[in-house]
Amino acid sequence: MDFRPGPAEQAFRADVRAFLRENWTPEQMARVKRSGTMHDWDLHRAFAARGWMRAAMPESLGGQGRGPEELAALFQEFDLAGAPYDGMSVSMMVASVVAQVGSDFQKREIIPAVLSGDALLCLGYSEPGSGSDVAAATTRAERDDDGWVINGQKMWTSLAEVSRWVILLTRTNTEVAKHRGLTFFLVPMETPGIEIQEIKTLGNKRSNATFYDDVRVDDRWRLGEVDGGWEVMKVALAYERGVMGGISDGMALFEATRRHAEQTTLPEGGRLIDDPAVRECLVRTAIDNEVADLLGARAAWVAATGALPGLEGSEAKMFATEAFTRATSDLLDLLGPEGVLKQGEPRAPVDGFLEYCHRYAPVTTIYGGTSEIQRNNVAERMLGLPRAR
Ligand SMILES: Cc1cc2nc3c(=O)[nH]c(=O)nc-3n(C[C@H](O)[C@H](O)[C@H](O)COP(=O)(O)OP(=O)(O)OC[C@H]3O[C@@H](n4cnc5c(N)ncnc54)[C@H](O)[C@@H]3O)c2cc1C
Repeated sequence: MDFRPGPAEQAFRADVRAFLRENWTPEQMARVKRSGTMHDWDLHRAFAARGWMRAAMPESLGGQGRGPEELAALFQEFDLAGAPYDGMSVSMMVASVVAQVGSDFQKREIIPAVLSGDALLCLGYSEPGSGSDVAAATTRAERDDDGWVINGQKMWTSLAEVSRWVILLTRTNTEVAKHRGLTFFLVPMETPGIEIQEIKTLGNKRSNATFYDDVRVDDRWRLGEVDGGWEVMKVALAYERGVMGGISDGMALFEATRRHAEQTTLPEGGRLIDDPAVRECLVRTAIDNEVADLLGARAAWVAATGALPGLEGSEAKMFATEAFTRATSDLLDLLGPEGVLKQGEPRAPVDGFLEYCHRYAPVTTIYGGTSEIQRNNVAERMLGLPRAR
């Protein structure tokens, strides 16, 4: 299989780069870093004005129907520019789910608001006791006249603080197997009874714990059938794979460190890049990046054929995030004590980017499915080993 980008993908990439040059400034980046919220409304609205909020949605549902390769290229360019896109990718994904399985009311309310760049959605799947095993959700939704009352807690509801709706996974039936007693709701975030508490992660980025205390929602906000939440989840996962986006943090790290090694002169003469240990480390990072890129391209290609790249996605995600974590550690060792200086501190190499990556990298091995879960997937489905649990 030849994964080299074709002319259409190359042209799209060039378009995205030009867009980022115009719409993503160091001031915006500083603003995002200060708040920890991985979202910038100016960038988001400019993105929507280009029509790219429609990028992932199938043409049959009114979208641009761009393939997974193009979407991966789009988000990879955002990664390389250090621009946030969680709000875009999550909202694009949920809009596609609503377009496919939502009611006419939900389509009317949600899709135009998302595609125009006015509103975001966040994911309310994980709970304190259920992350990897998401089907074990315990947040209760109980019938109440013509609506529902929701009680419970979600963890890691990233971007809840800027979202208009949360796509909420709830338990509606405790008498059946856990996958069969779940129901999804699209809950407006301004509904009384919802509380958002900030969680600062190791990588500075903000996430949230969200609490639902007698939250009343009308039945028209129920997404899919009662107890049919797992069917909706399958649709959501299929779209999530499609807009999986870049797992290319290692590339930005490599570029920044290579530039630094080329520009740094050593007291004993010569440049840092001439040190064989530094070269070896950079080359290993470059090779890992290439492998991660190819694995990502394979997953995108499988998704483009209409199949679910469950296994290929696991391989790509696990390899890319583990390699990124390894690279930050190795490069930090090479730069010595100054490597741990933070952004803005005098003499911080690469203006603290490496120190930041070192904290952020382990987080990438957790969200979107931990490395252990990805390994289980590969062990069971590819190597035919017995089930882990
Ligand atoms: C920064 C960040 C942002 C996130 N954003 C969101 C979001 O917006 N919405 C949302 O719903 N969720 C979000 N998540 C949640 C994320 O999907 C979960 O953290 C992840 O799936 C792991 O679940 P957990 O934290 O409950 O850990 P657990 O599932 O409790 O796992 C704990 C440890 O046990 C291991 N483990 C668990 N099960 C197995 C097994 N079967 N075999 C071997 N090892 C196992 C795990 O690998 C891990 O090391 C986010 C997480 C982070 C860190």
